[in-house]
Amino acid sequence: MVGSQDRGEREMYLLPADPGKGRPQQLDRLFECLEGTVRRCPHAGCRKKLALGVIIVHLNDDHRWTREQIVEWLVGPSADATH
Ligand SMILES: [Zn+2]
Repeated sequence: MVGSQDRGEREMYLLPADPGKGRPQQLDRLFECLEGTVRRCPHAGCRKKLALGVIIVHLNDDHRWTREQIVEWLVGPSADATH
């Protein structure tokens, strides 16, 4: 049993702090980004190319990356920051 993994899954998606003002369109855009953006797996020696949302799960499940490591990769200097 890995307690921190369970916690990481629930905290994986950062949702607006105020749910009253959250609009479904924002979630649609989030999932569109996760599914529509194809990225190469950043793990050393791994050459998989997957949708961003799939890579996040892949990194956690297959490479045992922590939530912090995945976030660091997502917001890191190598990340494509264009909007
Ligand atoms: Zn990989």
